[in-house]
Amino acid sequence: MLSFSSAMLTFSSAMLKAVSKFILMKTELMVQTMSGDDNIRWFHGKITREAAENILRNGGEDGLFLVRESNTAVGDYVLSVMHGNEPVHYQIRRHGEDAFFSIDEHTVHHGLETLIEHYQGDSHGLETRLKKVCLKDPPPHDARKHGRTNLLHRATKEGNYTVVSELLKCGYRSVDAKNAEGQTAVHLASVLGKDEILKKLIESGANINCRDTAGNTPLHYACQMNLPSTVRTLVQMGGANVQVRNTETGWVPLHEAAYRGHVEVVRALLALDAPAHPRTPGGGDKTPADLAAEGDFTECEEILRNYKPPSAKSNRKEWYHGSISRNKAVEMLMESDKELGEDEDGMVGIFLVRWSDRKGGGYVLTMLHAGQPYHFQIRKKDKFYFIDDGPYLESLEHVIGHYSMLSDGLPAILGRPVTPKKASTPPPLPPLPAELQSPHTTQVNGVSRGIPPPLPPFHNRSVCNPAFMPPSTSSSSVISSSSSLSPVSSKGVTSIATSPSSSTKSTTPASRRGEEKVVDAFQSHSPFRVCHNSSIDKVNIPREYLTLGAVIGEGEFGSVYQGIYHAPNRMKLDVAVKTLHHEHVASNREEFLREAVVMMDLNHHCVVKLIGISEGQTLLMVQELLALGSMLDFLLESPEQASPAYELKLWASQIACGMSYLEEKGFVHRDLAARNILLASKVQAKISDFGLSRALGVDSDYYRATQGGRWPIKWYAPESFNYGTFSHASDVWSFGVTLWEMFSYGKQPYSDLRGVQVIQLVEKGERLPKPARCPEVVWELITKCWAYKSTERPTFSFLSDEFSSVAEYVNVQELVGSAMDGRAERV
Ligand code: ADP
Repeated sequence: MLSFSSAMLTFSSAMLKAVSKFILMKTELMVQTMSGDDNIRWFHGKITREAAENILRNGGEDGLFLVRESNTAVGDYVLSVMHGNEPVHYQIRRHGEDAFFSIDEHTVHHGLETLIEHYQGDSHGLETRLKKVCLKDPPPHDARKHGRTNLLHRATKEGNYTVVSELLKCGYRSVDAKNAEGQTAVHLASVLGKDEILKKLIESGANINCRDTAGNTPLHYACQMNLPSTVRTLVQMGGANVQVRNTETGWVPLHEAAYRGHVEVVRALLALDAPAHPRTPGGGDKTPADLAAEGDFTECEEILRNYKPPSAKSNRKEWYHGSISRNKAVEMLMESDKELGEDEDGMVGIFLVRWSDRKGGGYVLTMLHAGQPYHFQIRKKDKFYFIDDGPYLESLEHVIGHYSMLSDGLPAILGRPVTPKKASTPPPLPPLPAELQSPHTTQVNGVSRGIPPPLPPFHNRSVCNPAFMPPSTSSSSVISSSSSLSPVSSKGVTSIATSPSSSTKSTTPASRRGEEKVVDAFQSHSPFRVCHNSSIDKVNIPREYLTLGAVIGEGEFGSVYQGIYHAPNRMKLDVAVKTLHHEHVASNREEFLREAVVMMDLNHHCVVKLIGISEGQTLLMVQELLALGSMLDFLLESPEQASPAYELKLWASQIACGMSYLEEKGFVHRDLAARNILLASKVQAKISDFGLSRALGVDSDYYRATQGGRWPIKWYAPESFNYGTFSHASDVWSFGVTLWEMFSYGKQPYSDLRGVQVIQLVEKGERLPKPARCPEVVWELITKCWAYKSTERPTFSFLSDEFSSVAEYVNVQELVGSAMDGRAERV
């Protein structure tokens, strides 16, 4: 009886102590929260754009700002700021899952608060510096770089399980809060090996993979501190990423363990399927075995060097297609994607592996993610296979196995393979030693082969070059306006006409063009998808499904608005709405609708997509919104943001690719010019303005215009202005002029010459001069486009191929990519 009551007593006093300490701490927390720094209380949660505008307008002051959650892209935020009596919005893009953000494409900040501080000091390209906080809440913990030590941190550090679980039990909202070093409670538990607390935190949904200010995740610390059981808890229970890189050093957890000779942690990581040979990035190329060797940790080095991975689970029969072209590969993925419908959750990509003859031959992983194709070269070194600076893996099957578990630098995890229907063509044999070569052996690209692999059909050989596209921005489905720091101001572009009444177009600030939009959702979610030859009725959007916003441009027949399309599936999509003003309805309705009919039939990532038509008092054409607007305006306003070696070549390859697609569909564009190229982002150009486009008859190679009207003579080939014939070859001529405009950064072709003078000049054999910044290779292609005889001009598929291969193997690192995740090279 006595012993029982003393036990009771001991228990109650311990409990009492814990709870009273807890209450004390709680009071401390409340005080802390209330005295929170006003300077970071600019976060307004998930409010609409309209609500943000109302709040700001009420405040009125220039530079008054707030931050809100993006309504269109999960994980992103939007900065809304007053400038000149109007709210302006900037998309804040999140890079990866961690708290890394940027507004423009170049400056990435760790933590939202760091980003805001940056624009408080100076406008750095925004329309105004951020001057006054529109007060509400501090930003969410998972978006911050650092914070303050709180109760949970203290209790975790002290190893006080009771307090931690009490805190978590009552729905503690600051589970991911960071201390001054940017460490969360998970970091602290992992540094100290407090596994029970760690489990509690994991059960409460704490973030496992976040980095502190030193760039370390909790797993990095558990490895540094030689804590194998903590490593197991983090990976098995918390799903920690074994390939996560430290943002400063690029090291993954296994590097940390091997560098310190922590044998048990190395064993634990290998047992948890961590690849044995990850490499330090940036050309360092060190494996954990190398690091162990440097520190004379022989046992550790041997374990790593002799490691035999479990046999690969995937089978190449499921995904290896042999020697097929890039175009064919993309086509197969697209087709398969269509069959899959809407089940895909967006986290995985479908894929196949093929053999490519480029660069002396090699395997290429082609994947489709969010409607965007990617190509990754799988390289070989000794017995290992690898992609870019990803880990060395034992076989092609292990490569697929690895990237099926972790995205590790790819845009998504590899999900479903596209399986070859027939037996695949094996890759060509490696070159024979010279002395064994038969006299019949052919030489292809300097590599001797017994039998050259069949060439893909010529018309099928061009594909848009995704080699340039950074993983998180490259998706054609995601259009970022975040780089539109310098607004595109009104600028008149004269469209050349045979009649003296040339039309003038202008644009309004791009900064109002809005946020990131998921545009490909249009394809899968629009109830108005149409198929070949369908009538306009099938794409009719009831007027009430549309909300019109700011004017973003002036079209020929009316203004172009930014708008929101409230799709029946409840998705809200940002769109561009072209209007046909009622004064034009009588005369231009047919032409306006003809453009829509042409666009209805087109579905390509380098061609602006039509979503539908809305008939009412004003006729509306609803298109995907291209955040950066007209390429011509972009070149004129921000020439420094478009380099001839990179952006211009990329856009050129995309225009050629889109034109090649039009060619396949039998469409001549007839108005290809820089003013009719729109930019979704700095890495995606799209062809628009199909007002003059015509479908060619089945047996016809050209279209003969029967009506006069305003013609952009300066872009026209001789046969077009002489005989009114239009063909893919005359579009190629216009493409040459478009390239000339691009590489001269928006200059007017033939400056002030009138249409008739241009005709005389071209007939005399004269052409536009080489723009100063135009590279020689590009100039050669441009001059070919201006061959007088249409048959001597190159085809779009050829041009597309040329531009893709000029740009081939350019490894565009995502802003933080090089430091944070192993980025894969595109081919
Ligand atoms: P039109 O065909 O009547 O001449 P445009 O299609 O050229 O009109 O549009 C005029 C301007 O409106 C463009 O230069 C561009 O700035 C803007 N605009 C048009 N369509 C879009 C779009 N889909 N997304 C973003 N801006 C657009």
